[in-house]
Amino acid sequence: MQHFPIFLDLDQARVIVAGGGDCALAKLRLLRKTRARIEVHATDPIPAIAALAEAGHLVLHRRPLTPGDATGARLVYAAHDDAAADAGAAEIARADGALVNVVDTPAACDFITPAIVDRDPVTVAIGTEGTAPVLARRIKADLEARLPAGLGILARIGAAFRDRVALLPAGARRRDFWAEFYDDAGPRALPHGAAAAEAALGALLHRHLTEAPAPGRVDIAGAGPGDPELLTLRTRRLLDAADVVIHDRLVTPEILELARREAQLIPVGKEGFGASVPQADIHRLMIDHARAGARVLRLKGGDPAVFGRLDEELDALQAAGIPHDVHPGLTAASAAVASIGQSLTRRDRNSAVRLLTGHDTKGFTDHDWRSLARPGEVAAIYMGKRAARFVQGRLLMHGADPATPVTVVENASRPDQRVLDTTLGALEPALTRARLTGPALILLGLAPRAAQRRDSDLMPRLHRQPQEAL
Ligand code: SAH
Repeated sequence: MQHFPIFLDLDQARVIVAGGGDCALAKLRLLRKTRARIEVHATDPIPAIAALAEAGHLVLHRRPLTPGDATGARLVYAAHDDAAADAGAAEIARADGALVNVVDTPAACDFITPAIVDRDPVTVAIGTEGTAPVLARRIKADLEARLPAGLGILARIGAAFRDRVALLPAGARRRDFWAEFYDDAGPRALPHGAAAAEAALGALLHRHLTEAPAPGRVDIAGAGPGDPELLTLRTRRLLDAADVVIHDRLVTPEILELARREAQLIPVGKEGFGASVPQADIHRLMIDHARAGARVLRLKGGDPAVFGRLDEELDALQAAGIPHDVHPGLTAASAAVASIGQSLTRRDRNSAVRLLTGHDTKGFTDHDWRSLARPGEVAAIYMGKRAARFVQGRLLMHGADPATPVTVVENASRPDQRVLDTTLGALEPALTRARLTGPALILLGLAPRAAQRRDSDLMPRLHRQPQEAL
């Protein structure tokens, strides 16, 4: 982030615009939304600017900016539409100690003006570090359509409620009131006029003040394979509302970024055979936080019901009498097959698919190797990286064809996704050679669809997710 976004108080501050043409007028339109004391330096201003001066909206100096003019000014816009004139004004203003913006020349600016969605007092500023003005305008158009025109009025009514809302305890109870105010009661009351809105909101506050507080609870939810776009709408909402997020190592930073700023994030990652937070401690954390009244989100990679020790956590919550629910997520196998253009089941090939784990808490796991070794079988092997040699040995021993296709998808759905396209006979040492560091899913019996196979310069048959496919 090269430009740090802040909202500057311009009430009664001096702001200077150097230039008197259309470019200066565009800036003046924006500045007139503030309560700044605006001055314009222009020898020959266009009539619209002269008219603003006559109407008392700004002070017009019919001469160029000279040293000392910008002393004490907070901002100066160089807006002559003339590079040489702008450079001269910028130098003078900067020497006088003002922050300078040279219109349309980001490299010469101390600050840049964002695209703005104005629902005063609600203001959304959009910046792209000057890299993509068209994108900024699209985001602006999107927000303009999404934010109701009455939002500003609602915010003003809300501000008048602030003192009374302080009677509610800080934290979840106040947040609940405001959520209902802005999402439901407010927008519904607004069309009936500001007085009706105020009355409705008064009744809403009364209800929140007299109602018993909601007890703490735990929601166990799946975060999907890593791409935030693959979160369910429900998990997204739970992230918005959680006071405490207890998450696995598989949950990506991009997803955790969506939690509220004040939410407490507690990592309880488990890594293969490596260090982990004991399961009993995870139960304790969930229960203690919920008993303290918090809304706890227990966030797991993929789907919580797939190799997620869900039952143990549910048993613990039930035994402790904590209200709870389970919310599904997209499991890694779904994301992995999507990335290679294959289906987990296919008519005339396999009418069943198995989700296996390469190892569990006790070590490598045994399976019905004989049936898995049959041609056409499809299995998604979770946590299989280290167990690959074991799985390979068992399957070959039980008569599997060494030419059986095997695809390993690392970091499925994430920008650093890689696909290793190999066979059962070659799985090891191919897997060791590929040196995968992220979570990887082994798809037994599936090869990437031909169109998905791309040569890689990294190593033969190891594909990196092409950017454009994201
Ligand atoms: N509940 C999770 C699985 C947890 S077990 C789910 O439904 O996906 C952890 C294993 O899941 C990892 O060892 C890996 O095999 C697999 N996995 C999880 N996310 C993955 C991803 N983005 N890409 C590939 N494999 C993944």
